[in-house]
Amino acid sequence: MIRMNENYLKLQASYLFSEIAKRVNGFVAQNPDKKIIRLGIGDVTRALPTACTTAFHKAVDEMAQDATFRGYGPEQGYEFLRTQIAQHDFRARGADINAEEIFISDGAKCDTGNFQELFAADTRIAVPDPVYPVYVDTNVMAGRTGAWKDGRYEGLVYLESTEENDYVPALPKEKVDVIYLCFPNNPTGRTVTKAQLRPWVEYAHANKALILYDAAYVAFMRDDSLPQSIYEIDGAQDVAVEFRSFSKTAGFTGTRCAYTIIPKRCKVYDSQGNPHSLHALWDRRHSTKFNGVSYPVQRAAEAVYSPEGQKQIRELSDYYLVNAARIRETLGKLGFKCVGGDHAPYVWVKARMDSWKFFDLLLQKANVVCTPGAGFGKCGEGYIRFSSFNSHENVELALQRVAEALRDL
Ligand code: PLP
Repeated sequence: MIRMNENYLKLQASYLFSEIAKRVNGFVAQNPDKKIIRLGIGDVTRALPTACTTAFHKAVDEMAQDATFRGYGPEQGYEFLRTQIAQHDFRARGADINAEEIFISDGAKCDTGNFQELFAADTRIAVPDPVYPVYVDTNVMAGRTGAWKDGRYEGLVYLESTEENDYVPALPKEKVDVIYLCFPNNPTGRTVTKAQLRPWVEYAHANKALILYDAAYVAFMRDDSLPQSIYEIDGAQDVAVEFRSFSKTAGFTGTRCAYTIIPKRCKVYDSQGNPHSLHALWDRRHSTKFNGVSYPVQRAAEAVYSPEGQKQIRELSDYYLVNAARIRETLGKLGFKCVGGDHAPYVWVKARMDSWKFFDLLLQKANVVCTPGAGFGKCGEGYIRFSSFNSHENVELALQRVAEALRDL
C-alpha cells in the first residue's frame, strides 16, 4: 500500500488564491456584464524590458546553430550572469559577495520553499506573521510543525508584525534556529533600516541560527540609506542566506529566473556541534535535483544589468510605484490607515472590518479584487493587501469605484 505523507493533511485546505479565484469566478458567473479590476494577486502586467527580449531573441538564434548551440549548462548558473549579479547587486553596494556564492534558479518560490530540506527535522522555525505562505507550508509538508490550531500551526514561532510595532517584528523571546525575514515585505510593503536589521544578525550569531532573507521586492526601494541586501550588515555573511528574483524586478514572473546567495562563510551544524558549509550542502542539493535555467533566459536576465536594461527596469518599477502611491493616497483620504507602497508594490490597509468581509464588499460593490490579509496569517486579519501591478488606467478606475463603495462606511 502506498502511504501518503500525512503532513499534507495538516495543510489548510483552501490556499488563499484559490479561494479568491472561487469567489471571483462565482461573482463573474452571476454578473457577466461587470468588468472586474484585479488588484489582488502579485503578478506583473507589463511586458519584459526590450533589453531583455533582444538578448532573449539573440540567444534563441544561437540555439538554432550547431556552432553556438548549448545543451546542459552549469547547474549553478552561467558565469556571465553570476558575475553581473555579484558586481551590480552586491559589490557595488559594499557587500563582498562573489559569483561562486550565487546559485541561479527558476524562482525564489522554489528556492525559499526547497531550502528547508537542508535542516534537521527538529529545527525550530520562526516566521513572520503576516507572511508569504510558502515559508510556512513547506515546513508543514516537511513535518516541522504540529497541527493547525486557532489559525496557526503548532510548533512554529510567529513573529508578529502589527500596528503596535509598526510592522517590524521584535526578536523571538525563545531560542530559534531558522528565521525567515522578507523586506520589502510581502504583504505589508514595509521595509527596514540598517539599525532595525542589525539585531537580527546579532541574534543569529549569538544563537548559531540562520536567517533566510527574502529580498524579492528590492527593485522597488527608493531610499538609498535603506539596506537592499542583508549583507550590507556587518557579520551577515556568517549567518544569512538571501533570495532574489527577476520576477518583480524585470517582469520575469512567466519567464522564470531567480538567484540565491549562500556565502561560503555560512555554517550549519551536525548533532555533535561540528560546523559544515551551508554552501556545499546547497550545491549538493541543487546539482542533484536541478539542471539549470535555460540559456536564453539567463541571457535575458544578464541584459538587466546592461545600461539600457538598468534604465528600463527602473522605469518598470517606477510605473508600479506611481500606482502604489495613488492607492495609498486614495485609501488614506478615505480614512484608512495604510503602510507600504513607498518602497514596495503592495499597500497594506487596515480594513476596520473582517478581511474577507472587506474583500466581498469591494468585489460586490466596486468589482475590484484585493487580497484579504487573513490569508497571510492571524495578524493579517482585519487588513487587506492592494497590489499595484496593473495599468494606470485600471488603477484609477478601480480607485474611483472603491471610493464610491467605501464613502458611506
Ligand atoms: N518571495 C516573495 C516574498 C514573493 O512575494 C514571491 C512572489 O510573489 C516570490 C518570492 C516568488 O518569486 P518567484 O517568481 O521568483 O518564484
